[in-house]
Amino acid sequence: MTTAAQPGTAGRAQATPQAAIRNAMTVDVEDYFQVEAFARTIPRATWDSFPRRVEANTDRILEQLAGAGVCATFFTLGWVAERHPALVRRIVAGGHELASHGHGHARVATLTAEQFRQDVIRAKHLLEDIGGVKLTGYRAPTFSIGANTPWAYPILAETGHRYSSSIYPVRHDLYGAPNAPRFAHAVGDGVLWEVPMTTLRLRGPWGGQNLPISGGGYFRLLPYAVFRRGLAAFHAAEGRGGVFYTHPWEIDPGQPRIAGAGRLSRFRHYLNLGRTAPRLDRLLRDFAWGRMDEVFPELAASPGPTGALSAAA
Ligand SMILES: [Zn+2]
Repeated sequence: MTTAAQPGTAGRAQATPQAAIRNAMTVDVEDYFQVEAFARTIPRATWDSFPRRVEANTDRILEQLAGAGVCATFFTLGWVAERHPALVRRIVAGGHELASHGHGHARVATLTAEQFRQDVIRAKHLLEDIGGVKLTGYRAPTFSIGANTPWAYPILAETGHRYSSSIYPVRHDLYGAPNAPRFAHAVGDGVLWEVPMTTLRLRGPWGGQNLPISGGGYFRLLPYAVFRRGLAAFHAAEGRGGVFYTHPWEIDPGQPRIAGAGRLSRFRHYLNLGRTAPRLDRLLRDFAWGRMDEVFPELAASPGPTGALSAAA
């Protein structure tokens, strides 16, 4: 991990050494009505009745990435690929890594092992057929792989995945595994890599707590300067790259408002949507970025039973 995370070839001049550390830029390709926050309000059987905005929003992100000269990893829902195959092909044509977000965006713990297998197989086949590429990466909906789904990692390996990026080592009411390793490590007896979302380990009176600095709602909540300092502090402390994630709906202030959702869900979902795209532009230029499989080249091979990287956590 140490050598892999510091390629030293960021591709553009950087002001400080840590600014040259490359991070993984990732996008979870799903629409605004598919998020966990609205799951109780919007039955999945009604998804097709909502106006879809995912293709236009993802195209906007593709333009932003192209403008900054950045390639990213797109964890794409099979459900979206089925309805927007041309978008999948544009992702691949843009030089980005195509990866899986599963098919139906059900939390892993709500599925049986067999239902999970069918969900990830369906998404992988769809994405590979449409994209014309093999994919090796998977991200669980709502970071929902954990201690109560021990069967998930072996199934991902059996179905041809080589890494998962599905753990967020923070405390949160909807997801989070605060005691999970913070860096890439072997899981499922060495059959698969897990690359967690990035956290800043706090010191002093908050010692032992992990501050989320991986994107999503926190990127919209915090002032950009605070977020940027957090990621720079992570680089200085750890000397390696992190993982950032966003969603197409996060740059879309014009999306329809969902009636009936709870106040907290609405606050989180609609907060600062108009600010995300310009902030993302700044982030793309303030740090060095790449695809998961470029930033973490060890993902190309199985970790093996010893899980060489788990010591780094
Ligand atoms: Zn998702």
